[in-house]
Amino acid sequence: MFDSLRKAFSNVAQSLGEKELNEKDIEDILFELEISLLESDVAGEVIDSIKSDLKEKLIGSKVDKNEIEKFVKDNLISSISSLFDNVGDIDIFEKIDEKKKKNQPFLIVFVGINGTGKTTSLAKFASLLQEKKYSVVIAAADTFRAGAIEQLREHTNRLNLKLVAQNYESDPAAVARDAVLYAKSHKTDCVLIDTAGRMQTSKNLMEQIEKIIKVVSPDMTIFVGDSLAGNDTVNQAREFHEYVKFDGSILTKSDADAKGGAALSIAKVTSTPVLYLGTGQEYSDLKSFDKDIFLETVFGSLNDVAIEQTDVSKLTKSTPEPTPEPEPTPEPEPTPEPEPTPDIQSDDPFDGIKDDEIAKYSDLFDIPPPESDSEAVKLGNKIRKWIKDGKPNPGESEVISSNEEEIHKQDKEEEPKKKRGLFGRFKK
Ligand code: GDP
Repeated sequence: MFDSLRKAFSNVAQSLGEKELNEKDIEDILFELEISLLESDVAGEVIDSIKSDLKEKLIGSKVDKNEIEKFVKDNLISSISSLFDNVGDIDIFEKIDEKKKKNQPFLIVFVGINGTGKTTSLAKFASLLQEKKYSVVIAAADTFRAGAIEQLREHTNRLNLKLVAQNYESDPAAVARDAVLYAKSHKTDCVLIDTAGRMQTSKNLMEQIEKIIKVVSPDMTIFVGDSLAGNDTVNQAREFHEYVKFDGSILTKSDADAKGGAALSIAKVTSTPVLYLGTGQEYSDLKSFDKDIFLETVFGSLNDVAIEQTDVSKLTKSTPEPTPEPEPTPEPEPTPEPEPTPDIQSDDPFDGIKDDEIAKYSDLFDIPPPESDSEAVKLGNKIRKWIKDGKPNPGESEVISSNEEEIHKQDKEEEPKKKRGLFGRFKK
């Protein structure tokens, strides 16, 4: 995943590393970078912005030849990082809670062209809301495409959700309004409104979406784009944004995206954040977009330190070695808990550990949630050691659970997660 973008950035850093830094070199390298970025589906204006940012930082810099590669890499990381920072982030759940306090439903309109994964993404988001204990109603406001209502009905049946729908050709704005009225009278927390998605250049379609927005005044509009479609998706995003000013996007099919340019381009071109990545066809395959993990995926490591886990702190500061190995014990007893280590430079005892690793460890070893700060620190250290040891199953390194049947079952349940690829690493 993102191989193309990763190569683009690593080529530029390496070729500079072999030369003295002067303006001619920089021009050559920036040209090379431009070609690589074009091949990675990064939009022209985004390439210009990255190039000019990098050029500004490189020209006139006195850098030791041996340090050039690191210098270029650091500056590229900082350019891309600030590109994402500049568009900000949105805490949707905080916004939903705010509306909930006022006894009002939170309304989200989903826009995007057909086939990008809009309906699937809407259903995935509905499932995520259910997981977080919010009540949801769905409006089938795509009254144009044959099969659109049935497709949504299939999802709502599976998720056991209310669907508000009328006949094909009926007014989509009226369907959306009905769903809002339903939510108000049933005290439903969220209304997710599906919309039609013909070509983005269809004036009629844009007017229809504008009308829905005028009638229901949504709290958020989310653009759904197919990351595999590269620059086409960026053009769609640009066009939709002109008409409906969406707040953020979901990029689908990231599980199959080898280029990685779409996230970068859409964030820059529309000045809105990428909220989620679709990483497969299951309801759970919707992962929060995480800038740090994006950078880690594209740039790999900093300071020639291999980043094995999601220890993103290593991208910005060098951290000492993790917890030292405890003394080997002859007994197959649970290993003595290592002392809280001073090397965690954060208040978060689980800093640098991914959510799914915490969940997997707790499941495997049947660990209840910590009840105090010191318990949390101890658990964090244990998980780091377990990761360092190659995540052994119970019994492989220490005997913690004897319920083999349960472990077998858990192993089986873990299996699909392993197949998710790199994007399985994105946090919820
Ligand atoms: P819509 O026409 O935009 O509503 O698109 P659909 O929701 O019907 O999705 C089109 C196809 O893309 C379906 O086969 C989905 O299962 C598939 N799809 C959607 N999101 C993802 C994703 O994140 N990864 C993969 N691999 N497939 C996806």
